[in-house]
Parts: sequence; C-alpha cells; structure tokens
Amino acid sequence: MMENKNLVILGGGESGVGAAILGKAKGFETFVSDFGKIPEKYREELVKRGLAFEEQGHSMDRILAAGLVVKSPGIPDKAPVIKALHEAGIPVISEIEFAGRYTQAFTVCITGSNGKTTTTLLTYHLLKHAGLNVGLAGNVGKSFAWQVAEECFDYYVLEISSFQLDGMFDFRADLAILTNITPDHLDRYDYKMQNYVDSKFRIVQNQRPEDFFIYCDDDPVIAAELAKREIPSRKLPFSTEHPLSEGGWVENNLMKLNVLQNTFDMTLYELALQGRHNLNNSMAAGISGMVLKLRKEEIRQCLSDFQGVEHRLERFMRVHDIEFINDSKATNVNSVWYALESMNAKVVWIVGGTDKGNDYSQLFDLVRQKVKAIVCLGVDNSRIIEAFGDKGLEIVETRSMTEAVRSAYFLASKGDTVLLSPACASFDLFKNYEDRGRQFKEAVRNL
Ligand code: ADP
Repeated sequence: MMENKNLVILGGGESGVGAAILGKAKGFETFVSDFGKIPEKYREELVKRGLAFEEQGHSMDRILAAGLVVKSPGIPDKAPVIKALHEAGIPVISEIEFAGRYTQAFTVCITGSNGKTTTTLLTYHLLKHAGLNVGLAGNVGKSFAWQVAEECFDYYVLEISSFQLDGMFDFRADLAILTNITPDHLDRYDYKMQNYVDSKFRIVQNQRPEDFFIYCDDDPVIAAELAKREIPSRKLPFSTEHPLSEGGWVENNLMKLNVLQNTFDMTLYELALQGRHNLNNSMAAGISGMVLKLRKEEIRQCLSDFQGVEHRLERFMRVHDIEFINDSKATNVNSVWYALESMNAKVVWIVGGTDKGNDYSQLFDLVRQKVKAIVCLGVDNSRIIEAFGDKGLEIVETRSMTEAVRSAYFLASKGDTVLLSPACASFDLFKNYEDRGRQFKEAVRNL
C-alpha cells in the first residue's frame, strides 16, 4: 500500500508555516488550515512558496484525508477538529516532533512552568558565543521545522511548552532541562495537576543513558515525580538550598558546578541575572555548557554579560528616585513570588488581568513583608480584592495602563519600586503580555 503523503497543518503561525515548508521539502502534499485569520506575513510566505492553505474555517473532508497532522500548540485537544481526527485514528503531532524526525542535530530542550525563555536565551548565548553552529527555536525565535528545512545547524536550543510536549512521541532530547513545575494552564489539563506534570515529564521520554537531564532539585513536584519514575539518562540536579555532589549548587556566595568530573565556580554577584529564580536559570545554562565541554572562561563571561530578556523583571527606568520594573511576563503566582522575593525596596505592586484560577495565599507572607500598596489592573479585580482586601494595604482599582502607572506613581515615595508583575494573563485589556509590557513602559515614559 502506498503511504498517505497528505500532510495537514492546523494553524498558520510561525510553527505551522515552518512545518509546511519542511513538509514540502520532504515530499508531502501539504495543506495549511487555520480556523482564524492567518497573519499577513505568514500568508505572504505561503503564497510565495505555492503552499496550499485555507483560513477562517476548516474543510473537514480535506483534513480527514490526511495521513499525518501537525497541530499548532495553541489548539486545545477539545477543539472539534482534533476530536474528529482522534476519532478517525489520524496521528496528530506537534511541530517539534515533526521537525525532530528530519535532523540529527544535538538538541538542548528546555521546559518548565517558569524560566523557559530566560534559560533558553541564556543557554543559546553560551553556545553561540562559544562558537558552536547553533540554532534557537521552539517558543522563541524562528520555528524549529523552518530551520530544519533551510539551515544546517549542529545544535539547537529549543524552548518547549507543555502544549508542544503533548504532541511529542518519538522525539528524544539529548539534553533536557526542567526548570520547575507549578500549577499553570490547568484548564488544558482537566484541572488535574498530575496531567500537567506528566506532560512536563515528556521532556525525558525516549532518553537513553548517554543523554542528560538537568532539573531543579528544590522543586517538590519534580522530587515527588522522580521518586515514582525510572529515568535512564544522566541526572544533573541544581539547587539554591543545599549542596550537591554533582550538578549545580551554592556555597559561600559562590555558584558551584560539578559536571562530568569537571568543576566550575563563580561568585553570585558576577552573574548578570540576579534573583534566586535567575540563579536557577544560570545554573541550568551553566551545567549545559559544562556538558558540552565549553571553555570555563567562556561560560563565566556569558553568564556575566547576558543582557536579560524584555518583560522579565526588566529594570526599566527611575523617575524621581522611584524604580519602575516591567515583569509583564509574570502570568502566574509562582513567577510573582520570585519577583517579590528579589525586591529590596518597598513595592507598589501592579497586578491583575485574566485570572487562571490563582491561589494568592502563597504570596501573603511576601506581600506583608514587601508591598505597601496594590494597584489592580483588570476588567474584573474581585479575586485580588478578595485575597488582599483584609491585609491593611491600600488597594486601588484601575482599568487602563496609564491609569495604573499614574496611581502607582502617586502611591510610591522616593526609594520605592513600582513593580508590574500581574500574576494573570493579559487578554482582558491587552493583545498579549508584550503589549502590556510596552504600554507600561510608554506610560512610565509619559509620567
Ligand atoms: P517562561 O518562558 O517559562 O514563561 P520566562 O523566562 O519568560 O519563563 O519568565 C516568566 C516569568 O517567570 C518572569 O516573570 C520571570 O521573572 C519569572 N521566572 C524566570 N525564571 C524563573 C524561575 N526559574 N522560577 C520562577 N520564576 C521564574
């Protein structure tokens, strides 16, 4: 029987168009189908390359004729089109899985609830600076499939979300990094934490003894899961709380690494990224560098000159001795916890947006210690007011960024910090977290 070479790609964004380009290069009959509108730049790309597509609807007959479907990570399993494909027994995979079939490159794969982008960019910075022929892909940068089709990198640093992992089956990471696991996106996991944990642990599926698994040893969810699983790859944990014999840890204000019988240390203040969460990210990246046998001086330099990432605890500007920090990417409680923990001044905290079922009680202690006033920024602020209304803090409600920044400025005194760290998604008032962060900076500039 002839193999069915019909490849359907659901979603015409960066990953979908990349998958279509790779699919065509590998001899598939490709068809891109998007339920919404395809962004102009991707539409042009499809037209230019003569790739078949449709938008604002799915032609089910054509989709159900597929031999293989690559799905954008944004489409949930509950979507009718995915249900229909499952019922028809047609395999549905993610773009990372698809692209992984056509490259022999060494892959550094990074997942976790928080810190993915930071760790990915930092690791990429290390590898690139060390002169490796390396690509950056996944949730950041250009699509993996696109690069597999058109570049020939020897290494890839890939940021991988749980939604990508859900569509990964045979893919094998040479080096897997799991930064942490805290509740997030539970709406996509039937509100069951174990489902989400299982998804994150797919990062190590198919690993062999010669592969590596780098993870945070302080994370109770990871520890509980490791107690239940046999993982064949070489484990390299990191911790900010206790010393370890292998991996990464902190001792006398030094970050220490011991990887494959090679040691490295560096003072904490030399690290470009400050705060405990970023120390974890630096250790994860540093361990990867050691696994790949980069020169120690190279690792030291990269960990100390990394520029940071926009919207992640970005120290933006001081206005009349009040510091404004943009942490718009903090879309869950855990990342806010780390943001508040790293604050040294009194904080006016701008919080709110689309609440994904947050448990704010984890922040009570830090809020008591560090926060002097709360500025709510969301269409519905009731859950925040419910959580913090009785804490003796001033709380104001605002419905635009300009209003929020002005209120925060008014509430802050010299020496204080205004921190935008919303704990929520941005879709109620903004296009996305980048838009929220940019509007914050614009409003601060206009003060
Ligand atoms: P992700 O790509 O996983 O969303 P980012 O690097 O974009 O992670 O960071 C998202 C938010 O989480 C930011 O507010 C950032 O300051 C915070 N953060 C970064 N690294 C960590 C970490 N290791 N643990 C907890 N929070 C983190």
